[in-house]
Amino acid sequence: MKRLFAVSVTAALALFALPALAEPVKVVATFTILGDMVRQIGGDEVAVTTLVGPDGDAHVYEPTPADARALGAANLVVVNGLGMEGWIDRLVKASGYKGPVTVTSSGVKPIAGTEEHEEHGHDGHGAFDPHAWQSVANAKIYADNILKGLVAAAPDKAATLRANHAAYEAKLDAVEAEIKAALKPIPRKDRKIVTSHDAFGYYGKTYGVTFLAPVGMSTEAEAAAGDIARMIRQIKKEKIKAVFVETIADPRLLEQISRETGARIGGRVYSDALSAADGPAATYIDMMRHNLQQFTRALAPAS
Ligand SMILES: [Zn+2]
Repeated sequence: MKRLFAVSVTAALALFALPALAEPVKVVATFTILGDMVRQIGGDEVAVTTLVGPDGDAHVYEPTPADARALGAANLVVVNGLGMEGWIDRLVKASGYKGPVTVTSSGVKPIAGTEEHEEHGHDGHGAFDPHAWQSVANAKIYADNILKGLVAAAPDKAATLRANHAAYEAKLDAVEAEIKAALKPIPRKDRKIVTSHDAFGYYGKTYGVTFLAPVGMSTEAEAAAGDIARMIRQIKKEKIKAVFVETIADPRLLEQISRETGARIGGRVYSDALSAADGPAATYIDMMRHNLQQFTRALAPAS
C-alpha cells in the first residue's frame, strides 16, 4: 500500500512539473559490488542500475546501448576508479550524462599494479591495483564516498542516508573482525593462496595472506607459459595446499596447475563480482564471509 501511495504522489508532482522529491535517486553503478553498497546505504531512497551483472567481468566489459540509456537517465554514477572500468569514460561521453560521478576508491591508499598488468592494460591503466574493495577498511572508504555522493544528489534524504550508512559501517566492522579472528590461528607462513587472477592484493596486505596468481590484475592478460611453470615450481616448493578459482575467471588454467602440483581446487571465490541473489555472495558482506570460509577451510591446520 505504501508503495502505491508513493507512486501516486510522484505522479501528482509530475503533473505539476515540480521537482519530484518523492522519487528515488537514480544511481548507475558499474558493477555488482558497488551496486550492493549503494543499495545498503541508499535503501528505499535509491533505484540502482548495475551495468556489469552478477558473475560478470568488469575488466573486459562491453557496454550496451541500454547502458548508455541508463546513464543518460541517471542522477548519480558510481564507479570504482583505479583503472578498473576502462570503458566507462567512453560510455559516459556516449550517453550524454553530465551529472556527478562518485569514484568509490577515492582516498584509498593504492597498491602498485603488476608489470604484466601495465603491459596488457589499455588506455594507460595498470598503474594501480584496482581491487581495493577486497580490504574491508577500504570498503568503509567506499561507503563514505557513496554516502557523500548520495547526500549531494538528494540532500533532503540526508538523515536517512546517514542512518543507513552508520548501520552498514557497523556491519563492515563486524565482518572485518570475523576475518581477523578466523585467520589468527593460521600461522602466517601457511597463509598462502593461489587464485586465477591477481585480485586479492589488498586482502593479502590487510590480513597477512600471500596470494599468488598466474594472471595479472586484469583478466585481459593471459598467463605466459614461463609464468605458469614458475608458479608450479613455487607451489611445490612452498607446499601450497589449495588453489582457488574466481567465479569470473576461466577455471582451466588452475585445473592444470592443480593437476601438476597436487594442490587441490579449494572452491570458488568471488573477487570482482557478486553472485546472483540466490547464490552464496549476493552482497559484499556475504562475499567476504564466503571467501573467508573457503580460504580458512583450505588453510586451517589439520586437527
Ligand atoms: Zn579483477
